Amino acid sequence: MATSGILRAIRYHPISSRIAATYRSLSTLVLAEHEGGSIKASSISAVEAAKSIGNENSVSLLLAGSGPSLKEAAEHAALCHPSISQVLVAESDNFTYPLAEPWAKLIHVVHQKGDYSHIIAASGSFGKNIVPRAAALLDISPVTDVTEISDSNIFVRPIYAGNALCTVRYTGSSPCMLTVRSTSFSVASTSADSNSKPASIDQVDLSNFSEDDAVGKSRYIKLSSQETERPDLGNARVVITGGRALKSAENFKMIEKLAEKLGAAVGATRAAVDAGYVPNDLQVGQTGKIVAPELYMAFGVSGAIQHIAGMRDAKVIVAVNKDADAPIFQVADYGLVGDLFEVIPELLEKLPDKK
Ligand SMILES: Cc1cc2nc3c(=O)[nH]c(=O)nc-3n(C[C@H](O)[C@H](O)[C@H](O)COP(=O)(O)OP(=O)(O)OC[C@H]3O[C@@H](n4cnc5c(N)ncnc54)[C@H](O)[C@@H]3O)c2cc1C
Repeated sequence: MATSGILRAIRYHPISSRIAATYRSLSTLVLAEHEGGSIKASSISAVEAAKSIGNENSVSLLLAGSGPSLKEAAEHAALCHPSISQVLVAESDNFTYPLAEPWAKLIHVVHQKGDYSHIIAASGSFGKNIVPRAAALLDISPVTDVTEISDSNIFVRPIYAGNALCTVRYTGSSPCMLTVRSTSFSVASTSADSNSKPASIDQVDLSNFSEDDAVGKSRYIKLSSQETERPDLGNARVVITGGRALKSAENFKMIEKLAEKLGAAVGATRAAVDAGYVPNDLQVGQTGKIVAPELYMAFGVSGAIQHIAGMRDAKVIVAVNKDADAPIFQVADYGLVGDLFEVIPELLEKLPDKK
């Protein structure tokens, strides 16, 4: 084509459409965590995040494990979100426990076949464990803790313990790998049931997956978790948190009783966890869980920035602290200057029992 012809062609195609034409089609692989035959709510939020990458995005969900609960989880996955078009199931004893080494290799194998534009996991301990290793194998740099997706390669993420939001453009090679904060991509209750047509369920071909791939530096020893009927801290509508001021594990039971009455999850500050009042899976904050409940009640919590980083997105924050200058009052919607050893027993007495 003569130079004038090329210039004419460029003139009739605006820059935006020329750039768009260079983008490959969107397809996202969501790494899903399952328990007791169900997909975890945080992984469904990761699907919601995948949905916001683009309208034409085709979303596949990757599940791995072994035994009957995997089949149940796959059936749940096929119906749990209308945006999922395919559920990929990797069944092998190598995936009975979610260790980073075999999972990273699995992602590599699945990506080689599917050539995804994006790979997403929720930003919990599952994703944080697996994603860096998988990214290293794929020779890419992941974008972590994403709270907003502005475009297929433009993301918002908090920095400085959530005190600033940073907008980043991913300029690396494909796939673009993300971890997303599930609290920022909540799933509308209707979308969970509204998938009339279940996604297809396909087995991953593991013939390229050798036993050596499964052997790594980490090894599963045991899982200890608390049997509780309380809601999961990461997704609870109400969270009751106690701080160092509770003074002992025995006193912390007051927080648990209050949570029971309100059908709430229990949270704790790092100081309370370090002092041994409660296990560390209850820690809220920068190095704990990120929560965004409708109601967050903090008792004897000073409001250090590392704690605030984990709960600042709560809709209503209530704080009880005997120090009127405690920083927690700067973020609280309702504050009560008082002694928690008086306030909590009074609340327990006045609140009705949960039916
Ligand atoms: C890298 C890093 C990461 C961290 N990550 C986290 C994290 O993820 N989560 C987290 O929580 N912290 C985290 N921390 C620790 C954080 O800086 C604080 O030390 C911690 O949050 C303080 O916990 P606290 O509020 O329970 O204790 P304190 O700071 O000791 O506050 C106790 C509060 O209780 C009040 N009080 C005392 N007695 C009573 C009473 N009888 N009635 C009412 N109020 C009372 C006091 O006035 C005080 O405000 C991190 C720190 C670092 C350096």
